[in-house]
Amino acid sequence: ALTDRLSSVFDRLGGKGVLSEKDVDEALREVRVALLEADVALPVVREFIAKAKERATGEAVIRSVRPADQVVKITYDGLVEMLGGEGEAVGLNLSLNPPTVILMAGLQGSGKTTTAAKLGLRLAKERKKVLLASLDTRRPAAMEQLATLATQAGVDSLPIVAGQSAPDIAKRAISAAKLQGYDVVILDTAGRTTLDEAMMSEAAEIARIGNPSETLLVADSLTGQDAVRTAKAFHERLPLTGLVLTRADGDGRGGAALSMRAVTGLPIKFLGVSEKIDGLDVFDAARVAGRILGQGDVVALVEKASQDLDVAKAEAMAKRLAKGQFDLDMMSEQLAQMKRMGGMEGLMGLLPGVQKIKKQIAEANISDKMVDRQAAIISSMTKVERKKPDILQASRKRRIAAGAGVEVAEVNRLLKQHRQMADAFKMMSKGGGRGFAQMAQM
Ligand code: GDP
Ligand code: MG
Repeated sequence: ALTDRLSSVFDRLGGKGVLSEKDVDEALREVRVALLEADVALPVVREFIAKAKERATGEAVIRSVRPADQVVKITYDGLVEMLGGEGEAVGLNLSLNPPTVILMAGLQGSGKTTTAAKLGLRLAKERKKVLLASLDTRRPAAMEQLATLATQAGVDSLPIVAGQSAPDIAKRAISAAKLQGYDVVILDTAGRTTLDEAMMSEAAEIARIGNPSETLLVADSLTGQDAVRTAKAFHERLPLTGLVLTRADGDGRGGAALSMRAVTGLPIKFLGVSEKIDGLDVFDAARVAGRILGQGDVVALVEKASQDLDVAKAEAMAKRLAKGQFDLDMMSEQLAQMKRMGGMEGLMGLLPGVQKIKKQIAEANISDKMVDRQAAIISSMTKVERKKPDILQASRKRRIAAGAGVEVAEVNRLLKQHRQMADAFKMMSKGGGRGFAQMAQM
């Protein structure tokens, strides 16, 4: 349903060419419904829509990009960001002073025991010596379940002693881990079917005893809104460090991930993706954002939209070039674009018929590293200097060189190159302006 909604909005927007505020509002109304259908919590939806609107309205409308693509891109970027961004440090935080203690918390049936074993397997693959310990004194056979899973994962489990309390087992596990040189000890706790005080205070006591490096809340993504309430309640009582969402294999929507992340601010570290012992994936914000949008090819669409944005920028630049304007700001923009598009080599292969420029660039010997230095030089200039490089006398050049950490000779080389490019562009503009969009992409 999500797919249908979005694509019908996009189809309607598609014909118009420009993205007005009304269009943004209209599209976001549908995105809102889509998010609610993906089971994202209402306050989170509100926050998301407000941010997306701000972003969309602030962004200059680019005529040559389909408005639909622009909305997809804004929505997608917003989702990725709310899910923790692309660069968020994931994975486990291991103590410098072993054994690292990892505490698993969550409701009964959420997947704690399974996830404990999955983490054991993952750590064992990283050549860590892992001890699993079940603190579940409530459910019959819970301890045997963990022992069996530990064997499957190829890691050790704490010998079962009848009649001990959960905090006592925690102490025994940690001292055994210390004595026997384990790198990591994973404490698997008991859960209840609903939130209650006894469970919370026991978990809090174990956290005090164990002083864990990671306290992971395991939640079932299929429980949606309940999972969010659970996360909030646990977060108030335990020093949680991250979330694990299980049964992502059965959840086509991904809404719980977005809500839980937004409500707790905690990073989602892993997704459980099957019942099998190796069914644990490192969380990937981009992938989940794609799933929430519900469009199989959304990622391809987003890539295309970004490319179109580049082309649109290039076309805008081409217009300015045709007027004989080519300042150092434009050069800097071009250098950045050139890098994004696969560097000089790749780009030149795509552009037939610009032999003169090609030769000049070859003479200037542009490499990616040089591009970075040139960008640094340009950003060390004042605004006025970038617009009117003619004013650059020796003292200014020295200041710029110092600012960019290069020799004055390199500043001179850049200025010479800029003059050559400006001249070449001027010649091309006299030649009739054909191929400017291509030119500007350089
Ligand atoms: P606990 O009570 O929190 O310890 O939950 P368990 O680890 O015992 O898991 C409860 C059930 O969920 C078991 O049947 C698991 O096999 C299953 N399970 C756990 N994680 C996943 C998952 O990521 N995907 C699927 N499909 N099943 C899972
Ligand atoms: Mg269990």
